[in-house]
Amino acid sequence: MLIKDIISYLEEIAPPSLQESYDNAGLITGNPNWKVKKAIICLDSTEAVLDEAIANKCNLIIAHHPIVFKGLKRFNGSNYVERVIIKAIKNDIAIYAIHTNLDNVFANGVNSMIAKSLGLTNTKILVPKLGLERAIVYCPLGIADSLKKSLLKFSNLSGAQGYDYSGLGISTDGPKARVDFQYPVSQRGRVENLINSFGKEISYDLIPLSNKNSEVGAGLVGLLKKPIAERAFLAVIQKKMSAQVIRHTKLRNRPVKKVAVCGGSGSFLINQAKASGADVFITADFKYHEFFDAEKGMVIADIGHYETEQYTIELLQQIISEKFSNFAAYCTGVNTNPVYYF
Ligand SMILES: [Zn+2]
Repeated sequence: MLIKDIISYLEEIAPPSLQESYDNAGLITGNPNWKVKKAIICLDSTEAVLDEAIANKCNLIIAHHPIVFKGLKRFNGSNYVERVIIKAIKNDIAIYAIHTNLDNVFANGVNSMIAKSLGLTNTKILVPKLGLERAIVYCPLGIADSLKKSLLKFSNLSGAQGYDYSGLGISTDGPKARVDFQYPVSQRGRVENLINSFGKEISYDLIPLSNKNSEVGAGLVGLLKKPIAERAFLAVIQKKMSAQVIRHTKLRNRPVKKVAVCGGSGSFLINQAKASGADVFITADFKYHEFFDAEKGMVIADIGHYETEQYTIELLQQIISEKFSNFAAYCTGVNTNPVYYF
């Protein structure tokens, strides 16, 4: 198997087009055409993880956070980013990052893992992105039926929003059937693979739609099965998410029913979390002044960046091992959390 085989599968689930503008997800070192031996999965591709990969003969590191965010100008090893890049290149190790593109996916994303661990129900994306597209496919009449069937099967499996078979179109090389199909942009890779698998006689357009997509976006909001007192809920978070410390705003003495979550630095979602009617917003990296923004309506619970994203490693491992059952993808044994509490 090649590195690009794993990447193309991961990007079917979390397409690069979903990453935020500041992000740098993707293949950072290495070559997509390398044969992949074993992979190691981590949140941060630190030097310790790189050493772990070398010791275990893994030539692919799949990390949540990109080790390189901005352009590097020197490679003399004066900081950990340069040292990791130099060492990875010297040892023929590929580093691949799957970051905000994975955060922004609803069904298999970082936030849905947090929601599952807290038992949230009726979950939905807090801030849906624009993210629906329409495929218009022209195909020879002879394969229209099987294309229709594949699309129907696909829409059942992928949560894509059905298809519309709108009869015949005529093109220069004879009569063709036209099949229209609407899908979440997160499924674009799968849609293109499926269409292309029907051969070269097919032509298609993929057109962005203006509707918002409930399957893609930032944060998540859901309901607890039963309302619970605020202190008791903080204890649940601490236990379920192994939070060493929870920094929170003043409790309101009201039960908690609705909960907003955002893995990683989520302060940019405070207004949307409040507007959603959430009683508690679980995220990380709140600054002093931002805690004031909660006002009285909602409790902010900052449980730590690493803590909110810890399930991501397991999530990636599940995604990869379900698809490539004979391939060894290990979760790192290194705790890369750079924050310690006294
Ligand atoms: Zn993060």
